[in-house]
Amino acid sequence: MLYRIASPYILSSHLMSKLRKYEELHKKCDPNTLLFKKSLEQLKKNQSTDQLECNYVLWSPVAGMGNRMLTLVSTFLYALLTNRVLLIHQPADMVNLFCEPFPGSTWYLPPDFPINIYSYDVHSQDSYGYMVAHNLINAYRNSAPSALPPFIYLHIKYNYREQDLHTSFFCADDQEVINRINWVLLKSDNYIVPGLFMMPKFEKELELMFPLKETVFHHLGRYLLHPSNSVWGMVMRYHKSYLAKAKEKIGIQARIFFWAPISIDELYKQIVACTQVKSILPRLDPEQSDSSSMADEEDQRAVLVTSLYGELYDRIRDMYYMHSATTGEIISVYQPSHDENQQFDQQVHNQKALAEIWLLSFSDVLITTAGSTFGYVSYSLASIKPWFLLSSKDQKVPDPPCRRAITLDPCFHSPPDFICKTSNKTYTVKLARYLRHCEDYAEGIKLF
Ligand code: GDP
Repeated sequence: MLYRIASPYILSSHLMSKLRKYEELHKKCDPNTLLFKKSLEQLKKNQSTDQLECNYVLWSPVAGMGNRMLTLVSTFLYALLTNRVLLIHQPADMVNLFCEPFPGSTWYLPPDFPINIYSYDVHSQDSYGYMVAHNLINAYRNSAPSALPPFIYLHIKYNYREQDLHTSFFCADDQEVINRINWVLLKSDNYIVPGLFMMPKFEKELELMFPLKETVFHHLGRYLLHPSNSVWGMVMRYHKSYLAKAKEKIGIQARIFFWAPISIDELYKQIVACTQVKSILPRLDPEQSDSSSMADEEDQRAVLVTSLYGELYDRIRDMYYMHSATTGEIISVYQPSHDENQQFDQQVHNQKALAEIWLLSFSDVLITTAGSTFGYVSYSLASIKPWFLLSSKDQKVPDPPCRRAITLDPCFHSPPDFICKTSNKTYTVKLARYLRHCEDYAEGIKLF
């Protein structure tokens, strides 16, 4: 934390005591305990027995590092709210990325865990969506504990169907049923935290935990996510080699998405337009002033470019190499890696991504790509409201090229319509006082 700008957001005492209580619960129920083994028996026999002391939510990684960190934090908040213990499934590409966050206990599943979470997907018969579609959820509402399934699978991936995340998932009734089931298995690439704020049942608790709603990821991400020693080594070597001495660090994170295609050349123009119009970086001096007006080395400003593409970095670096800045400042431009393509199931590729997210979070100013979860994580950890590079229009630089985020929390990209019905009331987007559409992604919602 000492490498980042000081966070202006204070942790509430309620959240602190909630975390301490959670740590106790985790220790009591972690995979090395008898209570865990008791819960496991249910899964092995595929039969629910009694209400158990330890209930679990099992997270499994989906998509890139940004998505994974967002969903890990969302799942942790869900665990805090529902009194469950968070465990994580660690495939080979997740090994040696994060430290264990909970003192004296582990969050990793044991290797002999009887369920292969990979095999669960949108059509799975153990899914909440299937149970809704076949009216089983209602049947489980009042059934004896022994008649309940030992686990339920929540499918909150981009291809979820209406039944998987339909409005009653976020409403009290269905949560009561899910709460009765010992194990929740969850696969998600969505940051569902704004949805949890829609749940009348959790409203009070969340208000106490987060008096400032936009700080959820900021606080929980800083608490939960810590790079492994290997990743931290990468971060420190890079930081100390190139960035530490700069008087200001500017992070630029640039992605190209299939829904907003743009050439590298146009993206470069967009970055230049944004950084110059918003006075983030100095303009180039047409006069090419002589080197006597050049600022001292201590006046260096460092630009950290993170992108899959090397060409983009070359263009930005060349700008300030071939020309002087009007201010005479030294603008040094760096890029830690450029793998050219997103690679799947590659541990080293993921380590580099995580190291770069961390380096970005040490910035003083951030420019991130609209809709990128890689960017969301870095700015929320940094406690900086970034400038979003807005999505291209007809493959060209949009006008304006960038817009400042108004709030700090990440965007829930694909929320359902929120309507919770109770016997006499309808909660629609009544809780909209907490929510707004995302500045960078119109269909999404976020906390403010
Ligand atoms: P999103 O797709 O932008 O929402 O972010 P994700 O992190 O979920 O997925 C993108 C993945 O592509 C990352 O996790 C990396 O594997 C890779 N990637 C994208 N941009 C970069 C980058 O700037 N640096 C590195 N090292 N990897 C990147």
